[in-house]
Amino acid sequence: MSCVQCKESASFKEYRHKNVVCLLGDIRIARGYYHCKHCGHGHFPWDGVLRLSERALTLGAEEIVTLGGSLDAFGTVAKRTLPKMSGLKLSESTVQRTTEDAGKRLAEQLQAGKTFGQKTVWDWHIDANGKTCAYLSVDATGVMMQGPEGAKADGRMAYVGMIFNPQPRQTEDERLSRPCDGVRYLAGHYTLAELGEQMRRQAAQVGVGQATQWIALTDAGSGLEHWIDMYFPLAIKIVDFHHASEYLENLAKVYRSDAEGKTLTDEWCHRLKHEGGAVMLKELQGLDLRRLSKAARKMYDAALTYFTNHVGRMNYPEYLSNGWHIGSGGVESACKTVVNQRLCLGGMRWCEAGSDHVCHLRALYRSDPDQWEAYWGYPDYAMAA
Ligand SMILES: [Zn+2]
Repeated sequence: MSCVQCKESASFKEYRHKNVVCLLGDIRIARGYYHCKHCGHGHFPWDGVLRLSERALTLGAEEIVTLGGSLDAFGTVAKRTLPKMSGLKLSESTVQRTTEDAGKRLAEQLQAGKTFGQKTVWDWHIDANGKTCAYLSVDATGVMMQGPEGAKADGRMAYVGMIFNPQPRQTEDERLSRPCDGVRYLAGHYTLAELGEQMRRQAAQVGVGQATQWIALTDAGSGLEHWIDMYFPLAIKIVDFHHASEYLENLAKVYRSDAEGKTLTDEWCHRLKHEGGAVMLKELQGLDLRRLSKAARKMYDAALTYFTNHVGRMNYPEYLSNGWHIGSGGVESACKTVVNQRLCLGGMRWCEAGSDHVCHLRALYRSDPDQWEAYWGYPDYAMAA
């Protein structure tokens, strides 16, 4: 047996016992202890083979504890879910630390440039012109934070990025509700630069480069347009249709009375969809502003600014005739399913590291199932599935 420290030969000393938590509960194992007289280092080779965690959980136990901690509150998992599903009785803090450690390792591996599983080129769907299309999207959502010793702290934004292969739209009014044929999420308290690097690696691993057309859907939030230019310069940028319509709706409601406001909203949204952002911008510029209240003027200015800044990414008639998706509903729902559903329940507050680690795990779990499997070391999942 060679020493793990200095590679000289280490000799067997004795068997030593250790209490270990496996999927079936607590067990006691005896494993050989080896000592190296060159550097004085002692080690247990069998611990490495079993991939025992720092808290003496086997890999199988660590995985289900982490899965539990990723899906529900640590206390609930410790008291109810784990005992019921596996018979494991662990403290809340063991569930929390095990989950956060796994998330930390995941974050470090992603940061170091690792991707999980085999490179596979997705079967990108084709648009109305026969071009294969790869979609990407990014959005941000808030997580409540807690300072040291329960002190109040500002919330932190978590970014959620996704690479996806949505099914082609069947009708013009369809929102993105059908499951995607391929989805990868990333989530965490990233800087946009970190997210960009990691998104590119995920994109490369699923063959975004093989798709003819890249489409980036966002709500045009702060910094996102520039981010797309930096990391996905070939992507056509589309502003989420529903965000653009919301500006029109807010304005229509104060520009006209109730019923008329509704009619005007429909009229404007229809125009935006079928004649595009440039036509709608012209209409806004031509509105009679003399009767506008102060509040209405504010809505008008907001709409005008949004349309002026993003008109080049609101060519909806063209996008629709190409058969492209025009809504960022996918990433908005990902903010909820990946982040909010676990991290924003009932006044939950997090420390930044813990929140970041759980975000990463949840993004991994909500991605195509091969991702979680590959991270936990089931190499044949893709072939078996
Ligand atoms: Zn040694």
